[in-house]
Amino acid sequence: MKQLIYLDNAATTKTRPEVVEAMLPYFTEYYGNPSSVYEFSAEPKRAIAQARETIAKALGAKSNEIYFTYGGTESDNWALISTAEAYQAKGKHIITTKIEHHAILHTCEYLEQRGFEVTYLDVDEFGVVKLDELEKAIRPDTILISVMFANNEIGTIEPIKEIGEIAKKHGILFHTDAVQAFCHVPINVDECHIDMLSSSAHKLNGPKGTGFLYIRTGLKTRSFIHGGAQERKRRGGTENTAGIVGFGKAVEIAMATMEERTAKEKAMRDHLIERVLKEIPFARLNGHPSQRLSNNANFAFQFIEGESMLIMLDMEGICGSSGSACTSGSLDPSHVLLAIGLPHEIAHGSLRLTLSAETTMEQIDFTVDCLKKIVERLRSMSPLYEDYIKKHPQQ
Ligand SMILES: *Cc1c(COP(=O)(O)O)cnc(C)c1O
Repeated sequence: MKQLIYLDNAATTKTRPEVVEAMLPYFTEYYGNPSSVYEFSAEPKRAIAQARETIAKALGAKSNEIYFTYGGTESDNWALISTAEAYQAKGKHIITTKIEHHAILHTCEYLEQRGFEVTYLDVDEFGVVKLDELEKAIRPDTILISVMFANNEIGTIEPIKEIGEIAKKHGILFHTDAVQAFCHVPINVDECHIDMLSSSAHKLNGPKGTGFLYIRTGLKTRSFIHGGAQERKRRGGTENTAGIVGFGKAVEIAMATMEERTAKEKAMRDHLIERVLKEIPFARLNGHPSQRLSNNANFAFQFIEGESMLIMLDMEGICGSSGSACTSGSLDPSHVLLAIGLPHEIAHGSLRLTLSAETTMEQIDFTVDCLKKIVERLRSMSPLYEDYIKKHPQQ
């Protein structure tokens, strides 16, 4: 079998063996329903409480402010829809950005169809929200600001603390989609004035299908999944005990290793960026040069199609992404790349490579070597490139 070089850690990550090991007994041994009263359910109940505690601590939150969900998408839906419903007497205006994940953008569209008004803020060329435009967008009927902590495509980290301060000053609730950021950058919900925060286990080496929504004490929020009395009557459905235990374990490890892990990723990421920009002509880095996730590199290569690049990388065993996984299959270029001002034809030639601490320098070098050949080959077949070179012979 050819080697696998997995450079799509923004799409999902490998579940750590320690996490799987921690989960297993909750399938086969401690399988009791955590809501049951008998002694047999005490262990699953205890394990969920412990995971909640670990997660709360990682955010500087209280454990009764953590509500487990099935994942980031559910948490985003819950935060927006139930806040909109609970606060609509105050107003029906929501502020978000043009670069959010579709879990936010499509939920906003849903709310627009139900009479809410949404302002989608522009970002600058690096993907950073403009604070003065945020201030200007605030109206007396604004009830919620939702800005992602870090962008899943270009890796840009937003000025969350400043945004939180603005929200607080105006008495507006602040939600952040921190699916890419939690356990990758330090987060404290009090320091950043965050009222709600979404996260997902599978983006930090935990299992798929488990997430949480942090909801600050005192917020009016309604249950989103109607059913039993689980999660303090706010989220019905038998708890995913094993998933929650795995999430807790993944957070415990990720928090303990954050500094060393991100330093390692950053060294490899910087090497990757440096080589690509130096060795491949007509390439640019998308996203912020320094305020970006330690594992994210996103490039645009002129005169080629991202999809063709992905297929050719795949033939070498390299997994990358173009646009975002959720939009693959559609021919529209990424909404994030368009929002940072890339023209359609350049946005089409984008490639996202997201590393992990398990990535090696050898894998990075091999990937750049392949990429150079692939870009050259694709350009040799591109009439646009040929045209350009004819017009600019000195290049
Ligand atoms: C992956 C992702 C989500 C969705 O999370 P799921 O757990 O896969 O539903 C939401 N927002 C961002 C920024 C993401 O990267």
